[in-house]
Amino acid sequence: MKLINKNLMPTYSRLPISFKKGEGVWVFDKANNKYLDALSGIAVNTLGHNHPSLVKAISNQAVKFIHVSNYYYIEEQSILADKLVKLSGLSSVFFCNSGCEANEAAIKLARLYGHKLNIDTPNIIVMEGGFHGRTMGTLSASGGRKYQAGFEPLMSGYIRVPFDDVDAIEKIASKKNKVCAIFLEPIQGEGGINIPKNLKQYLKKLRQICDQNKWLLIFDEVQCGVGRTGKWFAHQHSTVKPDVMTLAKGLGSGVPIGACIANKTATQLMEPGKHGSTFGGNPLACSAGVATLKAIEKEYLIKNAVEQGTLITTLLKKKFKNNKNIVSIRSLGLMIGIQLSSPCGEVVNIALEKKLLINVTAENVIRLLPPLIINKTEAKLLADRLIDVIEIFLNNL
Ligand code: PLP
Repeated sequence: MKLINKNLMPTYSRLPISFKKGEGVWVFDKANNKYLDALSGIAVNTLGHNHPSLVKAISNQAVKFIHVSNYYYIEEQSILADKLVKLSGLSSVFFCNSGCEANEAAIKLARLYGHKLNIDTPNIIVMEGGFHGRTMGTLSASGGRKYQAGFEPLMSGYIRVPFDDVDAIEKIASKKNKVCAIFLEPIQGEGGINIPKNLKQYLKKLRQICDQNKWLLIFDEVQCGVGRTGKWFAHQHSTVKPDVMTLAKGLGSGVPIGACIANKTATQLMEPGKHGSTFGGNPLACSAGVATLKAIEKEYLIKNAVEQGTLITTLLKKKFKNNKNIVSIRSLGLMIGIQLSSPCGEVVNIALEKKLLINVTAENVIRLLPPLIINKTEAKLLADRLIDVIEIFLNNL
């Protein structure tokens, strides 16, 4: 079968495979080969594939109606907003369709806030290695030239600092650089599963700096949020609360949805007409969001993320303990990165042959983001298969 179509814009270097169905952590190709999905569509399929409660929720909703405009009160949107406000301790939610849109909303809030502070050209502090999306605003905020090259002029108004470096931010604060916010992923995903050395302290320090300088603290939890790291939101590994947080990916377990969640201060900056989205928060997407959050609670998936994440990481660490080709294994819950000493893109192809779906990011970091429903047997199998794959790769170096 032809797996290339020139009528598709060449934005991806796709693997030569297509799937016909999924079930739990498994996906099946046309020949019925069964693959262990350790990527979840890049942290999207929280509930795996074909989860009965999710399928039921969106089927029931589709029968009623799929879409009405935000000109009207949407009950499903309201239910999801109530739940997210409760879980986050923040005040209000704007719904959109993707991570970059959620971040665009957050960036707009930051600029409104800056102007309210009478800063004519407000700056946002962002991180090296950060990734926030592909729109002009979010790729300009992202920390890699890879995403920006060729798209100049970039959007201005960002000051970039190294990740996990409080001193660099304090230096900027001392210079009164028209800053209005700090914007970061508490754990960097695309950047290589980068976890601050002391997440708790780092976030606490950022909160203090923001409070002292009247800046907003904005967390992009598009990849690390929604239970993945063993808390509802990754920043909840600390006692810190952001002013604004963005979610997407795992929130709809496969149905596109994004959310920008704000505290009172940030919420008050918005008024009708200042922001919006045609599809954002439509009944279908929100019914998927509600079903996802309910299943996470009912099936104790956050606890499961901790248990299976620990199991996978322990098995990998045990195997590669003294291996000089493994630089480090970093994880929090089911967000796992294995950094190799050299570029390792080929690992993805070897894994495919071993019926394992994984990804490599930042050139040399194998990224695992399995569904939160993965059980112990599957987690063990994932680790076994990956160990095989890494050994084959290293033997061919
Ligand atoms: N923010 C983070 C942390 C991400 O990992 C991503 C996507 O990988 C985005 C934002 C952009 O999300 P989307 O592709 O849904 O626009």
